[in-house]
Amino acid sequence: MTESPTRVAIVTGAGQGIGAAVAQRLAADGFAVGLLDLNEANVEQGAKDIVAAGGKAVGVALDVCDAGQVDAAVTKVAEELGAPTVLINNAGITRDNLLFKMTEQDWDSVLGVHLKGSFLMTRAVQAYQTKEKWGRIVNLSSTSALGNRGQVNYSAAKAGMQGFTKTLAIELGKFGVTANAIAPGFIATDMTAATAERIGMSFEDFKAAAASQIPVQRVGTPEDIANLASFLVSEGAGFISGQVIYVAGGPKD
Ligand code: NAD
Repeated sequence: MTESPTRVAIVTGAGQGIGAAVAQRLAADGFAVGLLDLNEANVEQGAKDIVAAGGKAVGVALDVCDAGQVDAAVTKVAEELGAPTVLINNAGITRDNLLFKMTEQDWDSVLGVHLKGSFLMTRAVQAYQTKEKWGRIVNLSSTSALGNRGQVNYSAAKAGMQGFTKTLAIELGKFGVTANAIAPGFIATDMTAATAERIGMSFEDFKAAAASQIPVQRVGTPEDIANLASFLVSEGAGFISGQVIYVAGGPKD
């Protein structure tokens, strides 16, 4: 029996939180993984951990908003691991404020990382996917896409990720490429810890308050998201495309 070649996945924002968990999970699933993040030390460590566990990985520092850095990072992954055909657009930031206090910088930086960053990454990776006639794209949206006080920039960006995903599904389907979005609810990471700090609550109290409003009565973990990402990039998910899947411990509209 001939062994199928190792597939290569790129995860952005893989330095910590959800991205780090997705990178570790895809490596455990047998993918070679390019871990991309602003934080070079974190992705180098994450790649080392994967290699120590017997996998293949490389860590590359980049700003996903910079087209030159994006193209160079994707080329580096292709040279070191092979053609990347799986892309997880996960890098993200929040700059929360009520509309009347929000600055242009808050708006531009949030829209920039989520939307421009995902556009640049996807444009670079689709060249490999369409050539290989196979690919999987998973974009991180959020329940905030449905509206969330203090997040007019982030809500707009995360709703934008949904339209972006559906259009990718339409354009790239004929090349064997699927695109789906995961829209998490409250996931315990540095991002939600920073929100707790900003509003002056302990992270434990903040998580408990959130959990009390969630049907399954707990907040999510990065592994909850990695489990779905693992399925969406699998062979068996090839007829699922253009979908937004809420992973929030209960229903969302
Ligand atoms: P996090 O803050 O823990 O990690 C985000 C990572 O993205 C960091 O390592 C950071 O360095 C990297 N990053 C930020 N800007 C970057 C840039 N310009 N270029 C490259 N890397 C960059 O966040 P998280 O909670 O793990 O969130 C991951 C994704 O999931 C984000 O898109 C976020 O919006 C989304 N999300 C998170 C939650 C949650 O509750 N934590 C809920 C819904 C959606």
